[in-house]
Amino acid sequence: MKHIDEYRDGNLARALAAKIADEAQSGRDYQFMEFCGGHTHAISRYGIEDLLPAHVQMVHGPGCPVCVLPIGRIDDAIRLAMQPNVVLCTYADLMRVPASAGGSLQRAKAEGADIRMVYSTLDALRIAEAEPDREIVFFAIGFETTTPATAFAIRQARAKALSNFSVFCNHVLTPPAMRAILAQPGAEAVRVTGFIGPAHVSSVTGTAAYADIARDFRKPIVVAGFEPLDVVHAVLMLVRQVNEGRHEVENQYARLVTAGGNIIAQRAMAEVFEVRPFFDWRGLGALPLSALRIRDTFADLDAEVRFQMCASQAEDNPACECGAILRGVKKPRDCKLFGTLCSPEMPMGSCMVSPEGACAAHWTYGRFRDHARAGGAKVLA
Ligand code: SF4
Repeated sequence: MKHIDEYRDGNLARALAAKIADEAQSGRDYQFMEFCGGHTHAISRYGIEDLLPAHVQMVHGPGCPVCVLPIGRIDDAIRLAMQPNVVLCTYADLMRVPASAGGSLQRAKAEGADIRMVYSTLDALRIAEAEPDREIVFFAIGFETTTPATAFAIRQARAKALSNFSVFCNHVLTPPAMRAILAQPGAEAVRVTGFIGPAHVSSVTGTAAYADIARDFRKPIVVAGFEPLDVVHAVLMLVRQVNEGRHEVENQYARLVTAGGNIIAQRAMAEVFEVRPFFDWRGLGALPLSALRIRDTFADLDAEVRFQMCASQAEDNPACECGAILRGVKKPRDCKLFGTLCSPEMPMGSCMVSPEGACAAHWTYGRFRDHARAGGAKVLA
């Protein structure tokens, strides 16, 4: 296949779905977690769950970078942005994530903080060069996909001797989060049969990054692309692994992902970042060795050092089920606020903000299918 529409061919998708229905064994439950928010979005957008038999189910995972950032880190960013002379540069999705006491970056901007939306780290560097008298801070979030760009920006700032640029680093790591999901104790824990592994993250890390997880937890992992045929194909590969008693890492997304990943990106990350002892995740709590901080050799470019920031703690809105959704134990429709007090225009939790968030995806696409299943107008042809 060469063209994007071929990866969205309904007939091919239905043929793959028929194979899944044929091969998924009755009396066996298959619960596959899509780790990545991009897959969550694709599953909702293309109605992939509707193609699957009832005993093959998709479970949303924690792989939306905006969603997993805890409220305390948003509070810290707002405090930073309110300091005189600071310009906080951020991706647009973060603007609307609810912080403590009804706050958000959007609200802080309305109250006078200089917060600017950027498309890339390069935009933030350009602002730093253009405004040497201001302190430019880049609010860095994301999994291994976006981390290399932050590493390159820090190296570039050092090379250009930019003394007014720094990074508030909130980069997190995929494998520890997968382990945390599988190690969840108690009756509430979701029973994950296998993972659809992330696409773009894996282009950086390589599929080898998950080998220990597949082996230790005896769970199959299939790295898949973001197109609907990629996802349905990955589900079929997972079903086959489960049926054959295998727990391997397989690569459905071979047109982009390799076993070893992007070595140049990995080297840049290793040069600039080191692993934090602990990091708080929304929904998953404090996970050891699950996030990155800037190495001491680049401390002058670390906003946490430069502005003597202390990581604050804040409680989630008790009515919001984002935490349980990110652990895979609840679905957006389980939240009483969904579509009533919480919508993309007025998000009450982080999962309703980014298009990769489970609640936002369900709001945009899935709720219509709920309606159809409940006997309303038929949505799917
Ligand atoms: S619908 Fe809103 S309040 Fe409920 S879990 Fe989702 S983001 Fe949180």
